[in-house]
Amino acid sequence: MIIDGLTFLPTYDDTLEQNAEYLRQILPLMSKHKIATDPLNFAIFYEYIIGRNIGLNNELDALLGKQVVFTSELSAKLFKKYICDTSIDSLEKINHLLLQLINKTGEALDTTGEKASAATIDFQNQSKKLENNQDLPEIKIVLTEIIAGTKGLAETSMTLQTQLDDNKKEMQLLRQELAHARETAKTDALTGLLNRRAFDQKLNEYIEIHKQNDVELCLLILDIDHFKQVNDTFGHQMGDNVLRYTANLMKQHITEHHCAARYGGEEMAIIMPNTPLNKAMEIAEKIRTSLAQHPLKLKGSKKSIGKVTISIGVSSFKINDSIESLIERADMAMYRAKDNGRNQVMAENAI
Ligand code: GH3
Ligand code: MG
Ligand code: MG
Repeated sequence: MIIDGLTFLPTYDDTLEQNAEYLRQILPLMSKHKIATDPLNFAIFYEYIIGRNIGLNNELDALLGKQVVFTSELSAKLFKKYICDTSIDSLEKINHLLLQLINKTGEALDTTGEKASAATIDFQNQSKKLENNQDLPEIKIVLTEIIAGTKGLAETSMTLQTQLDDNKKEMQLLRQELAHARETAKTDALTGLLNRRAFDQKLNEYIEIHKQNDVELCLLILDIDHFKQVNDTFGHQMGDNVLRYTANLMKQHITEHHCAARYGGEEMAIIMPNTPLNKAMEIAEKIRTSLAQHPLKLKGSKKSIGKVTISIGVSSFKINDSIESLIERADMAMYRAKDNGRNQVMAENAI
């Protein structure tokens, strides 16, 4: 399904090795619970194993615990609820309501039109009756009919006006809902950053603009260090809080022209149009230091999670760059930052 240029498909960017590891875990699990390895079920268990879809994991844990039979209806329900973007549902609802509204308006206009046509015929007949008519009582009757007809027409027109006003209000509400659904479709629910789909679209747009105007464009890839340990030690919920905290911190350091996105899992990205490499490095360094300077505390508790750090890779757009090559250089720089001891910013081509 494609709406407004956005496809409602989940995106996966794990490496071949990671995928092979997931497969090794998924198949025995599905077989243990006697789940058919059809594409929907496989997608559900893939999401379950990678563990990024907390709602799905909770519901699936409960279902597997109760040894519920995995019918095709249940698979479809889970897939639709947790994997396919739920905003499809709201867009479908809005679409349905808009159609209803258009039909209602059309019916109201038809009724008014029919009444107006009937009134026109009546008026023509009455006008004929009045021509050269000297009979006062008859003229009086025709006049009474004309007055009644005019009153009827005024009432019909008032009803139409009220109906159109109501429809206009409904239309405005639907417009707001549509704008909201559009935003939801672009946003990562956990962090409030752009999601991967919107990130790809934005980067494409910027690269197109960049090709025509010779301005600088940088890309940052940020990956939380040893994030698995945070999850393993403090639990997935706490891991989620750290993700949210990091995302908010990123938002504080970027300008409104920059686009911060959740690139996947615990990896984030920032597109920086009109920004030279040294400026992008400066902002990256600010994000890194502000996260690393204080140990993170659990809300309402004295317990500390310890210092959370990130490694950041930065690339800058070159003529003939594609999205892939720009991302690859930022990614490689980020991995060099990891190899070099983590908690640091590394520019492309830096040794
Ligand atoms: P490195 O410093 O090399 O990046 O190590 P790492 O532990 O951060 O990297 P690794 O790729 O081994 O682990 C990433 C972990 O991030 C595994 C995965 O469960 C977790 N993760 C991914 N998405 C989410 C999420 O949405 N919430 C939580 N809590 N954890 C997530
Ligand atoms: Mg990491
Ligand atoms: Mg990672």
